[in-house]
Amino acid sequence: MPILRSAFIALSRNVTLRKFSERSSLGHRMSSRFVAGMTLDEVIHAAEELHKSDIASTLDSLGENVTTPEEARRSADIYHRLLDAIQTRPDMNANVSIKLTQMGMDLDPGLAQEIVAGLVQHGVGANTFVRVDMEGSEYTQATIDMVRGLHAIPGNRGHVGIVIQAYLYRSEEDIRTLTNDGIRIRLCKGAYKEAANLAFPEKKDVDANFVKLAQQLLTSGIYHGIATHDEHMIAATKKFVRDRNIDPKSFEFQMLYGIRRDLQKSLVREGFNMRIYVPFGTEWYPYFMRRLAERPANALFIARNLLKQ
Ligand SMILES: Cc1cc2nc3c(=O)[nH]c(=O)nc-3n(C[C@H](O)[C@H](O)[C@H](O)COP(=O)(O)OP(=O)(O)OC[C@H]3O[C@@H](n4cnc5c(N)ncnc54)[C@H](O)[C@@H]3O)c2cc1C
Repeated sequence: MPILRSAFIALSRNVTLRKFSERSSLGHRMSSRFVAGMTLDEVIHAAEELHKSDIASTLDSLGENVTTPEEARRSADIYHRLLDAIQTRPDMNANVSIKLTQMGMDLDPGLAQEIVAGLVQHGVGANTFVRVDMEGSEYTQATIDMVRGLHAIPGNRGHVGIVIQAYLYRSEEDIRTLTNDGIRIRLCKGAYKEAANLAFPEKKDVDANFVKLAQQLLTSGIYHGIATHDEHMIAATKKFVRDRNIDPKSFEFQMLYGIRRDLQKSLVREGFNMRIYVPFGTEWYPYFMRRLAERPANALFIARNLLKQ
């Protein structure tokens, strides 16, 4: 299985296959399992549908590692339109998730800083929240620095947050720093390929660290997100919360659009908060491939469904 994971992660970076897939109608049909649509109207519709089931959402306009400043600004424009749409639907309990490499981080960190500062300011005005996703480990420190800086600006507190990956050795220390600042964190296992000197290579160690870090978050007094589809991680979280008498509404579980919908609904029925990460847009290929890397059986599942249509 680790070989298949690496193969899908390598494919996620294949430019030729990406161009071909994103333009083909077969590609669109394949991606629809994990991607809510190609347009802003479609993603808002998906968020409204989730809201009907008492599920909140975080909206993600797909794209990463842009290559020109214009592309970065165009990416930000889509988010500004999303924030406007969210502002007119306050009941929907939606926010946005962004990636720094989509905002020009590889081209000019100053440009990314300016763009993200603008988005957070808009998030404050729209009374919502901007989550900065975590990408590969070459961006970890820069992401933390930027989010801490933005969170410290008067008025921004509680409107910008971050993601921490349980597979990185450094995460416990990072959580300590970020929670001291009062920053909201989404904890996930981590979706990129990392070297063994930076990240636990074995799943069992990632899982053990996830449980430990989740407990660190749940006792911090800040509203965090526990992002996983792993029933063991969820059971450990539920047990910890019950044993410590922690209010089940003081945090949220988070899952990805289209994955374990049964579990999403059952946690809501049990009284937990649930937020779904809802991606949309034409640049779905790297995101889609990372989902196949997490569970190569998805490739078979999707192929079977396509054959049925
Ligand atoms: C809301 C959210 C936001 C995220 N944001 C980031 C981020 O910013 N940076 C980052 O590096 N990673 C992010 N991730 C991805 C994360 O790091 C993991 O790669 C992903 O969630 C799979 O890990 P898992 O905890 O579900 O457990 P795993 O051990 O991978 O899986 C446990 C079980 O969950 C189910 N499952 C997991 N993945 C899939 C799938 N793709 N398809 C179908 N079933 C599946 C299967 O039943 C599997 O047996 C995010 C995940 C979520 C839920």
